[in-house]
Amino acid sequence: MSNTDPPHDSSPPPLVQPMARGLAFTGALKIANEMFGPHAVELITRDAPAVRAITGSRISGLRWYPYTAFAELLALFRNELGGRDSGFCSKIGLAAGKRDLATIFTAYTVKPSPERLIRACTGVWASYYKNAGRMKAVSCTPDRTVVRIFGFSSMSQDHCRLMEGWMVSAMDVIGADVLPGAGETTCASQGGAFHEFRCQWTPATSSASGVVTSSDADQEHQSA
Ligand SMILES: [Zn+2]
Repeated sequence: MSNTDPPHDSSPPPLVQPMARGLAFTGALKIANEMFGPHAVELITRDAPAVRAITGSRISGLRWYPYTAFAELLALFRNELGGRDSGFCSKIGLAAGKRDLATIFTAYTVKPSPERLIRACTGVWASYYKNAGRMKAVSCTPDRTVVRIFGFSSMSQDHCRLMEGWMVSAMDVIGADVLPGAGETTCASQGGAFHEFRCQWTPATSSASGVVTSSDADQEHQSA
């Protein structure tokens, strides 16, 4: 039974709050369950009402849930499972990205190029989050891959860490070896104009182009 209010013409437009797809919750929860066991996860979510409202019953992967609950879940992971390590959620992201994308890509018989798949990030982001800005690949070359999220300054910083890990494993799944130093270089949640994630990579299959310098790492860093 659901209580649905009829729409009123005079009513103000609904406030747009960021939402996360059930898949975002189930992906992160599965990884935490694997790493720490279902009992530990159950224990930490018990006293978190917003999270509990979602994890307490069956989560539908395609349904939209409040983003604030997703942010709360990641904060719980960091504080209760990750020993308050601010980078902890990148480990969840690493494992979750691998799982999420491996499932998607088994559908392909011919793998598209990494560049093309990086450009597809806009649609991937929109399928997981709504009213949550827009993700765009501004550069896709091996020596300079830059992905930005515009218009989402309320993104949780644990989620920024999750995205760092997710990006690295996503690159791995699409056939690219990510070089050390990948991560977020500008953060809108810390006053930046957008969230920006950078990495350098080599195609896992093709020519030994060899040396990729780290000179890219120090270009146009923007600080808050
Ligand atoms: Zn950020």
